[in-house]
Amino acid sequence: MLKPGGTIGILGGGQLGRMMAMSAAQLGFHTIIYAPEKDSVAAEVSRDFFCNKWDDTAALTAFIQQCDAVTWEFENVPVAPLAPIADRITPHPRALETAQDRLAEKRFVEELGGAPAAYATVDTHEELMRAVERIGTPGILKTRRDGYDGKGQWRIGSVRDAEGLRVPDMPAIYEGFVDFSAEFSVILVRSKDGEIRYWDSAENVHENGILAHSTIPAGAAIADQLKPARALAAAIAQRLDYVGVLTCEFFATAAGPVFNEMAPRVHNSGHWTIEGAATSQFENHIRAVAGLPLGDTSTIAPHIVMDNIIGKAANAALEMLSQPDTHLHLYGKKQARDGRKMGHVTRITRDAESSGSTQ
Ligand code: AMP
Repeated sequence: MLKPGGTIGILGGGQLGRMMAMSAAQLGFHTIIYAPEKDSVAAEVSRDFFCNKWDDTAALTAFIQQCDAVTWEFENVPVAPLAPIADRITPHPRALETAQDRLAEKRFVEELGGAPAAYATVDTHEELMRAVERIGTPGILKTRRDGYDGKGQWRIGSVRDAEGLRVPDMPAIYEGFVDFSAEFSVILVRSKDGEIRYWDSAENVHENGILAHSTIPAGAAIADQLKPARALAAAIAQRLDYVGVLTCEFFATAAGPVFNEMAPRVHNSGHWTIEGAATSQFENHIRAVAGLPLGDTSTIAPHIVMDNIIGKAANAALEMLSQPDTHLHLYGKKQARDGRKMGHVTRITRDAESSGSTQ
């Protein structure tokens, strides 16, 4: 068990690392960030910063020597350079290996009884045409690796679209478009001794492939599918002997939950837990990594909405400060580029009475 005053290393320097570092500080831990980009919003709130490339073995070794525990906030950390230090990282990097390749991830989940969307691997234009013929349209072509927030994805509405598409010069997957009634994620935390706790699942709405809103409580379409979705997420965590917060994204469909993807980390759709749950996803991740007892994951209010603040919308964010029970988080990023997550806001409605008097 890591004692207060101990140091937790975080691989990756973005907003998830920033919020993790803030939770670590609350429990009396220090954090050190390791990331290749100079501008790190996580490093700003941490004790030290190793700004080095992912494959700089000497720097990784020096970093790990200063840490009592190491975790990550970024799921595309290259796995090969971590091999010599894998046993010192929590969760074990085998979870990264599975999640970094959409094909490996889908096969893994199928083995555990999960149902992803119909898919086919696509490396050439001919394979794309065959996949479209077999699975049909609409569908989405996705690169197997390095995609996030809708990047590395091409929507294909018809055979004609497919004919005109230049297949990316990297392994990809064609997925049939899922006719879903809602999207949700199961976020769980697993401790070193195998205890699992879940947060309530929010209903997630994406815009242009990026999460826009998460709402608690989720509608009935989601509530009905939580049991099998949670069981699959737990099976994934157990098979990986996972320690920490794990997120699995699902589509709610008439045929039950369809697995979309997993994120072996804290997740944007769990940001509402900072103010909306007894223990946030960030704190429980830190507790799990440190070997401390897990905290209560219950939701503390009847209605909660988390909105992402994306791109230039951040310029008007301070206007929200005058609204009651509104919790603004700005990540401290210098440039408000289009599609960039600049912050989020969580609005809590404590009871029916206060919902009528928010202004
Ligand atoms: P991803 O990065 O794969 O999670 O995709 C981002 C978002 O695109 C998802 O949350 C969905 O809103 C949408 N999307 C991705 N794949 C599919 C699919 N096979 N069917 C329907 N919508 C999808």
